[in-house]
This record gives sequence, structure tokens and C-alpha cells, in this order.
Amino acid sequence: MTIQLETRKLANFINGEWVGVGESTGVINPATGEEIVQVPLSDASDVEKAVQAAKKAQKEWALVPAPQRAEVLYRVGYLLKEQKERLSQLLTQENGKVIEEARGEVQEGIDMAFYIAGEGRRLFGQTTPAELKNKFAMSQRAPVGVVGIITPWNFPIAIATWKSFPAIIAGNAVVWKPATETPIMAYELAKIFEEAGLPKGVMNVIFGSGSTVGDAFVHHKDIRVISFTGSNDTGRNIAAACGKQLKKVSLEMGGKNAVIVMDDADLELAVEAILWSAFGTSGQRCTACSRVIVHENVKETLEERLLAAMKDLTIGNGLDESIKVGPIINEAGLEKIKSYIEIGKNEGAKLLAGGYELTDGEYQQGNYFAPTLFTDATADMRIAQEEIFGPVVSLIPVKSFEEAIEVNNGVEYGLSSSIFTNDVNRVFKAQRDLDTGIVYVNAGTTGAEIHLPFGGTKGTGNGHRDSGVQALDVFTEWKAVYVDYSGTLQRAQIDV
Ligand code: NAP
Repeated sequence: MTIQLETRKLANFINGEWVGVGESTGVINPATGEEIVQVPLSDASDVEKAVQAAKKAQKEWALVPAPQRAEVLYRVGYLLKEQKERLSQLLTQENGKVIEEARGEVQEGIDMAFYIAGEGRRLFGQTTPAELKNKFAMSQRAPVGVVGIITPWNFPIAIATWKSFPAIIAGNAVVWKPATETPIMAYELAKIFEEAGLPKGVMNVIFGSGSTVGDAFVHHKDIRVISFTGSNDTGRNIAAACGKQLKKVSLEMGGKNAVIVMDDADLELAVEAILWSAFGTSGQRCTACSRVIVHENVKETLEERLLAAMKDLTIGNGLDESIKVGPIINEAGLEKIKSYIEIGKNEGAKLLAGGYELTDGEYQQGNYFAPTLFTDATADMRIAQEEIFGPVVSLIPVKSFEEAIEVNNGVEYGLSSSIFTNDVNRVFKAQRDLDTGIVYVNAGTTGAEIHLPFGGTKGTGNGHRDSGVQALDVFTEWKAVYVDYSGTLQRAQIDV
């Protein structure tokens, strides 16, 4: 079933109005090569209008009691729920991920809406004893003002909900720049905010390129926080620009995630989890498994079982319920994957399966790449160090648990890791020693739940977290409040 949009050209959402922009570009369905819709290419003047609207709206919004702000998010949650199937079909069309995963992504947005709406009755601060008599001390969260959100194409709705919902519940206004490849989810979410009765100007969506719209966000003096998810190169440049302006910035970037398979592991379970983590969303997840660190005693058996299981992976248009692996987002993504296949071969890794683009028959119009398995990779190879962002996984044999941990941690990134073992001592050592922001035991590297903090260490980020209650730290400032009711001048640290 292909869902048609009611419009052939999207418009920006500024101050509660749909505002057209002259210049636009086509959004291509990566499964079919067909244009779905035109997306505006806005410029800095559109950003200016959105920021001014947001600035004005935020002053009023911050005065709305948080439990009432929550009512809007509950309505957003119910609307997302009502429209889940339609949104999922549209998501598959613009992004390519298979329909089952698209449904999961929309569900993540629904879960986030209800979870964060609950924060409207919490947003806890602290009360604490003051060191002086007749004095009251407390800390509370305050909104930062206008928040700039910049999101990637691989999770076009979930990531936006991780960022915008906490920002809104905390009393901020948002300007959001979605990825140009996947603007439809942004358009649909803006429509849902409108229908849910969010006051005009609290959420604004500006479509356009990163180098124009994104850059204008980063350099706008009235945007006080940038929350970015995307590649490391872009993130580093944004962080440098924000640093110069003393602007708060939250970065969620790449990963080089590994599944560790020990010699006591349930291999059947490990194979299932590796397939799901490595080839789900065609490997285009920040948490995708692209390394399998395997104990040498079970390496051959694991290879055999993986190869057998990979034969059952069906590749094609994700709208077909029987398809397990969808297309690659675009030509540039395909080229990058192809280049890593050559790099892997030249480095001496052994190609066991895949390694080629699919171009015949039904695959002719879309961007398809065969699920790929390398083995006998070493930890220092580029295919074992760099993010490929495609359906490519490399087996790295190791001799011990300690070596497995060392190999896992020996990369620039620190997003997700996983270990398969039935030894309880190893489980507890692993959760302590794996240096990633997310650790799974006897499960693959993907599948985060929204009420836990999401993000990574080292080159994956800069210490902030999306989702969970921790996301509120990005969108609030801590304010310490002292009320002295002694009627005299009491000096802290002196009059004690
Ligand atoms: P990207 O190229 O860095 O783009 C991400 C967003 O930044 C897009 O909206 C892009 O706009 C915008 N952008 C590009 N240049 C910019 C600039 N100079 N200033 C401001 N914004 C700019 O990343 P991607 O290829 O879309 O996404 C894939 C990457 O995201 C992978 O590395 C993946 O691991 C990472 N990711 C991380 C997480 C996480 O939570 N850790 C989650 C998902 C994805 P346009 O594309 O519209 O030009």
C-alpha cells in the first residue's frame, strides 16, 4: 500500500502558519527511485522569522503550568497512536526502513510523548537545608528559551520526539531542522502539534540544507541550545561554532558497535541478535552492530550459522511485509559502503558473503546492497574502526574475555555494546568494563527504551543524553533559590 500525501510540496511551519518557500528539491523514495514530494530549501531569513516567533511564544509558554503543558503532549501521543499505521507507511516510503521497523519507530514517539508528559507533574528540583537560620534553599529547573534541533534521516520521527518533547515540557520553544532526505515525518509531526493545540510559535519547522538552515541555527544568537544528532564531522564543526559563542550543545553521533560472543554463549540466540542488529535498517542505525568479537573456540561454528541464517534475509521494498532488509538511503551512502568493501579486502579481511550492490530486475530503480559478512578481521583494520553505515559486519576473533573487552573499547566511538555469555561473573565484569553509553547482555546492540538515557561516550557525543529524564538537563538550566526570612542580613560562610 502506497500512501499519497495531500500536497506535492511541503511548507515550513512558522508561528502556527504553513509558509511556502520558492526554491525546493525532490524527496526520493530509496526503494523505488520515485519522487514523493518537494521539500523547501529555506534560507537564513526563514530561520529569522521562526526564531522571532519562537522567542515571543516562549515567554508565554514558560508561564503555562507544566501539568497543562503536559496536556498538549498527551494529545500529541494519542494523535500519533491514532495515525500510527499511516505514519509508518510514510516513514518507510521516505526512509526505506522495513515497515515493521517503521512501526517500531513511530511507537517510540508515542512512548516518548506519554513518558515525558508525565514529567509535567514531576520536573523535580531539590529542597535542602540552608546553613543559616530562617533561610530556605532549593534548586529548580528553568527553561533555556529557544532551542534549535537538528536531526538526521535515519530516525526521522523518533529522534525528533526525544528532543522536542522534553524541550517543550520544560517550557522552551523549538525551531527544528529535519534532514532534507526525510522531511515528511517533520511535516506530519508539525501537523499533529497543530491539531493538539500547541500554542502558535512553540514549535517551528524549517526545511532546508544543513549548510544553510542548520548553519543559521548554530550561529543565531537567540537560539540558546543546539541539540544535534548526526555524523561526527558535522557534530564537531557545530560544537566548535557553539563553543565560540558559549552556546550549550548536545551531540549524539556515530558508533562502531560490537557484539561479543563468548565460548559459553547461546549461539542460536547470538546469531538471531547479530542479524537483527547488523542488517536491520540495512545497518543504517547509530547502534548497528558492525563488529562481532568472537571467541576463537566458537568462531567457525558462528560463521557457519551466520552464513546459513543470512540466506533467509529477504531484500527489497520495505512496504512488503515479507522483506527483512530495505534499501540504502541514497547514492552517496551506497558509494561509501562500496568503498569500505574494497578497503576490507585490501586490508586482508576475508569476505564470506555479500559485498556487492544489487542492480538487476526489481532492484534496478532503488539503492540496494547485499548483507555482507567479513571474517578474520583484526581490531586495527579500518573496517573494524570506522563507521560504515550499511549492512556490513566484520568478525574479529579473540582468545579471551579480557581481549574481547579490550577490542570492544579500542575504537574512537562509545555508543552501544553487547555480550553473549551465560557466565554471571563475566556478565557483571562486562557491564562494568565495557566503556559504551549503552550495554546489552544476551541481546543485540539495538533496541533502546525511551525512559533510559540514550547516548554514548568518547567520540559518540559530548556527555549529554537524549531521552530518559536525563534529556531534561539539555533543555533546562539549574537555578538555585534562597529565601531568607530572618529579617536580618545573614552572610553565608561568615555568620554561622
Ligand atoms: P549528517 O550529515 O551529519 O546530518 C545530520 C543533520 O545535520 C542533517 O539534518 C543535516 O542537514 C544537518 N547538517 C549538515 N551540515 C550541517 C551544518 N554545517 N550545520 C548544521 N547542520 C548541518 O548526518 P546523517 O548522515 O544525516 O546521519 C547519519 C549519522 O548520524 C551517522 O553517523 C549516525 O551514527 C548518526 N546518528 C547518531 C545517533 C545517536 O543518537 N548517537 C542517532 C542516529 C544517527 P541536511 O542533511 O538536510 O543537509
